[in-house]
Amino acid sequence: MIMNMIADNLDIVRGKIKTALLKSPYDQKAVCLIAVSKTKSVHDIKQAIAAGQTIFGENRVQEAILKFTALRQEYRSLELHLIGPLQTNKVEAALALFDVIHTLDRPKLADALSKAIKKSGRIPRLSIEVNIGRESQKAGVMPEDLSDFLVYCRDTLGLPVTGLMCIPPYGADPVPFFRHMKSLADSHRLHHLSMGMSGDFEAAITCGATEVRVGSAIFGERS
Ligand SMILES: *Cc1c(COP(=O)(O)O)cnc(C)c1O
Repeated sequence: MIMNMIADNLDIVRGKIKTALLKSPYDQKAVCLIAVSKTKSVHDIKQAIAAGQTIFGENRVQEAILKFTALRQEYRSLELHLIGPLQTNKVEAALALFDVIHTLDRPKLADALSKAIKKSGRIPRLSIEVNIGRESQKAGVMPEDLSDFLVYCRDTLGLPVTGLMCIPPYGADPVPFFRHMKSLADSHRLHHLSMGMSGDFEAAITCGATEVRVGSAIFGERS
């Protein structure tokens, strides 16, 4: 995409975030905009960086390594978030690259993360993915299993879990799901709430999101 388009899109998204924050009844200090650059080129990512964006999200470890290893050398202030499913055999590679992992969703992955953190000394920020729509094909812990899983991650393994993440069911009104997520985060005193994509980030913010993951509204449609 041409340079001005990505910069213009970022301006528009930032403006909408500000407006939504003003409407939000919650006291989010700010909302972290994660620019989701999956399938997009290093060239496109550099356009976003030139427009002041430093926080990026990718959903595949391998793709992120290919695109961001050199970018991170060149731009020291980048922050990289993993927003897609993480296989246990990719945990070490993910830890080496990502600052935040949004998709902690099962005990086996928690075990692998705990081991890899001890070995590498690198400590990412972690959020648990919740299957808030209880969809059989989707990743994430069921809402009723969250308490036990959180105890296992934080108390048994000592993992630094500070947030929750969700992807509501496609095509449904996301607001009831966002509200449920907000109440889960509050009741477990988790400060980071990752929800909202290009189509619904404003609604997510007025429901209490602290992080939004926006791809196509910044970079254009993915082919
Ligand atoms: C692709 C993706 C996004 C961004 O989607 P858009 O609709 O393009 O904004 C957000 N979250 C996750 C988990 C994704 O995989």
